Amino acid sequence: MIIKPLKKHLETQFIGQPKKIEFCKKCVMSNQRPRISFKDGICSPCQYTEMKKKNIINYKERKIELEKLLDKHRSKNGEHDVIVPCSGGKDSGMIAHRLKVDYGMTPLCVTFSPPLYTEIGRKNLKSMIDAGFDHKLITPNPKLHKLLSKLCFIYLGDHEEIFDRGQLQTPIQEAYNNDIKLIMYGENGELEYGGDISTINFKGMPWDWYEKIYFSTPIDNIVKIAKDDGYFKYYDIPFSKGNLNIYDLPNKKDLIKKGIEFHWWGYYNKWIPQDNYYYSAKHLGFEANPEGRMEGTYSKYAQLDDATDSFLYYMMFIKYGIGRATSDASHEVRDGHITREEAVRLVRRFDGELPRKSMRIFLEYLDLEENEFWEVVDRFRRDHIWKRDGNSWSLKNQVS
Ligand SMILES: [Zn+2]
Repeated sequence: MIIKPLKKHLETQFIGQPKKIEFCKKCVMSNQRPRISFKDGICSPCQYTEMKKKNIINYKERKIELEKLLDKHRSKNGEHDVIVPCSGGKDSGMIAHRLKVDYGMTPLCVTFSPPLYTEIGRKNLKSMIDAGFDHKLITPNPKLHKLLSKLCFIYLGDHEEIFDRGQLQTPIQEAYNNDIKLIMYGENGELEYGGDISTINFKGMPWDWYEKIYFSTPIDNIVKIAKDDGYFKYYDIPFSKGNLNIYDLPNKKDLIKKGIEFHWWGYYNKWIPQDNYYYSAKHLGFEANPEGRMEGTYSKYAQLDDATDSFLYYMMFIKYGIGRATSDASHEVRDGHITREEAVRLVRRFDGELPRKSMRIFLEYLDLEENEFWEVVDRFRRDHIWKRDGNSWSLKNQVS
């Protein structure tokens, strides 16, 4: 079908972004990342790393806090006492395993199914469950999910927005439905990757912040516009508002009333992705990508479960001029695994690489022709990031 013209951008993260591009002096992150802040040329995650290095954060004390928290929630009769949102990746597996083995908890692992599982993603999830966990897989109506992914791609330049919403919502809904009062998430993305550094002393995200940061995209509005543009009719998908419940948070007041708590493992423990990988490989049979590095980066052990994931990062590159290699390399500079010079080289080599291997799968999934794909892509290039030379585009500013 013909892609309807975009009347206006619905991507709220563009609002208020700095027009002058700046790169962090310590890592390779840019100030275009949504919600990141810079001080004296240093990005907020690097400021946070400095604090960790200076031992401003007392992990010994936080370990005791964790023990107290788990003592409060541990069940005595083997009932589930903590929800661990699990993709089957290296991080969530490590958390579930350590909660069980080191702290005697009884986790219920919950997964919101990715749009298109990869073989390695399925295999890693299975070997994690086989290590001895109860697990629930929530799969949304694939027909509707597919259309919503397409609409999110067209209107937001991010086909995974709807998947993220499901991933963020499902563990909370399961906690609510099963009366499990504790949910253990991984890291505070706001601190680790760039975002609101005022969350530094938060043990978890308060429900109103969670809603504001992760559920602010106007999905209802997108659906309304898409209905007017005729997409639902074209795909013959009957739709009512209730169909979106699987992508929406339970009522905040009810969560508070039930005493459901949200905590980050990364608040209590130093968050080092590479260590999580080694831990999961050793204890849970986690395997890195057998095909080598992921497209758009040099890394081969993160986010392996979804076949369309590379396009999330590709579009991040289009929208903000920073791709997956920027994200991976910045974290590794902060962890002291590579130097800034190495990171610059990696970014220049891999960032924004078109995911050719998964292109066919992506286009088939979203039911798009390649020219339609490029039409959507070009809608999200902005003047302060891109310059055009004939038919080719290049970044106005590159990290150096
Ligand atoms: Zn930095």
